[in-house]
Amino acid sequence: MCDANIHLRGDILLALELLNFQIYGCKKCRLWQGAKHAVPGEGPINAKVMLVGQNPGSEEDESGRPFVGRAGKFLTKVLLENGIKREDVFITNIVKHVSPKNRKPFSDEVNACLPYLDAQISAIKPKIIVLLGASAKNTPRLEGIEYFEVIHPSAAMRFKNMEDRFQVQIAELANSIRRINA
Ligand code: URA
Repeated sequence: MCDANIHLRGDILLALELLNFQIYGCKKCRLWQGAKHAVPGEGPINAKVMLVGQNPGSEEDESGRPFVGRAGKFLTKVLLENGIKREDVFITNIVKHVSPKNRKPFSDEVNACLPYLDAQISAIKPKIIVLLGASAKNTPRLEGIEYFEVIHPSAAMRFKNMEDRFQVQIAELANSIRRINA
């Protein structure tokens, strides 16, 4: 790796670490009060694919990691069946704190949290962003990035017709990933 690339990687790492530090201490909306851990997200800093969910559930709140509960395991399985390794993608949420009784985040909570996602996208510069479920559709749209709107895995694992659609959507995503990697 040449010097310029090493510096660039260092800059991205630093930007993301600073961001995580801000997220861990964030009190911009009410959700921090009921949370054990903020969940900034995880994955390679040069990931070509970013997955955006709604917000952490109780297992994510407990562990501080995104998509580690039932929906996360289902998502990881379907990705792998389509040749996409979880460790190759950056996984985050539009809102970084758990919500009371897992309710959908309110729009003021989404708006308060959006600058973090915006900064993550600017630092990582993914080629593809996958929006998991309706809440994730609030993700900022940037030119040059391909966006995939897919069913949220927690709905897909509950309803057969949604699972079938989800499988098709993830297969289409895998095709696009193969195209950008070609
Ligand atoms: N559902 C989400 O939207 N995000 C998580 O991190 C876990 C479950």
